Amino acid sequence: MMYNIPLFDLNFGIEEETAVLETLRSKWISTGPKTAAFETDFSGLLGVGYSLALANCTVSLHLAMKILGIGPGDEVICPSLTFVATVNAVRYVDAIPVFADIRGDADLTMDPLDIERKITSRTKAIVVMHYAGFPCAMDEIMRIAKAHDLKVIEDACHGPLSEYRGQKLGTIGDAGCFSFFSNKNISTGEGGMLVTNNEALYDHAKLLRSHGMTTLSYERSKGHSTGYDVVESGYNYRMDDIRASIGIVQLKKLKNDLLKRAEVRQWYEDAFAEVSRVVVPFKGHNGFVSNYIFAVLLESSCRRSRDEVRDALHKAGIQTSMHYPPVHLFSIFREFSVSLPVTESAASRLITLPMYSRMTKPEVEYIAQTLQDIIHG
Ligand SMILES: *Cc1c(COP(=O)(O)O)cnc(C)c1O
Repeated sequence: MMYNIPLFDLNFGIEEETAVLETLRSKWISTGPKTAAFETDFSGLLGVGYSLALANCTVSLHLAMKILGIGPGDEVICPSLTFVATVNAVRYVDAIPVFADIRGDADLTMDPLDIERKITSRTKAIVVMHYAGFPCAMDEIMRIAKAHDLKVIEDACHGPLSEYRGQKLGTIGDAGCFSFFSNKNISTGEGGMLVTNNEALYDHAKLLRSHGMTTLSYERSKGHSTGYDVVESGYNYRMDDIRASIGIVQLKKLKNDLLKRAEVRQWYEDAFAEVSRVVVPFKGHNGFVSNYIFAVLLESSCRRSRDEVRDALHKAGIQTSMHYPPVHLFSIFREFSVSLPVTESAASRLITLPMYSRMTKPEVEYIAQTLQDIIHG
């Protein structure tokens, strides 16, 4: 089906093409100088000590679990209103996901009160997910973590450059994980990053990224090193220089892209001020935010179902999505399932609307007007 207004539009231009060509012609296309430069640029932008470029964010979450010593039987408190990868990573190390509820319609991030309620003697870590780039209540969460000696992993896939009280998301906990999948704020096709301020954690993650080997083939090719040892069962979780060269260009565009998205979000907030029975989560939030996606909730009193409304939007040429089907309701997580009334209610009424930097004000107004007509028509 052809939509007039897509959910997402790639912010690519001639710059990305030129960067890829340059890398191809350099004849070094696997992990090498471009990957190293991408990591340096990422660290600089976030003001974080160490960045490790990876194949995707899912493996970044896996490595975060490994380097923080999360293992079999450990409990990890995590959200359910997130992409399944957040929770799959907990299972990769045979740890137990303990789902915490969200705060409410106005704030779709994990509720610190519910996190605190779910702590047991087996709890080892909390994974937070900054929904759409809006920060979790990190002061409370870090206080809880400190009081109970828990590690904190930030799934910051939605929030590159987003801030919480002036601090960049991903740099507040022990480790932060980012994704550069096609539809993310930074797109390289597939790609991810692990960030930390802890040198020992970084060194360990770097070792695991490449088979547990003590040197990389690029270093060997430069004559810096001849042999290597394998000191741990590692993985091949590397990013390649083709993707890294796209990432370098994407980082240069990021701030401007996010400023545009902030403007789009403001248009949405203004337009929806006129539409009753629609809640805009995080409305009026101040602080710099990436606006990875734009979600709205239908109020419970709305007489059209969410799926009916989505169908009607599609017929009007507006592509929508739903971030996310709650993870605790998937078959594979049945044994860990608990009742999460706030998450379940919000997820049943949630619609993700188009969001990208090239959106225009008339498009946003058309979407709000169409939704108004569907709900009240
Ligand atoms: C996209 C995403 C992931 C997975 O990232 P990949 O790079 O596709 O592995 C994990 N968590 C969240 C919240 C995401 O949005």
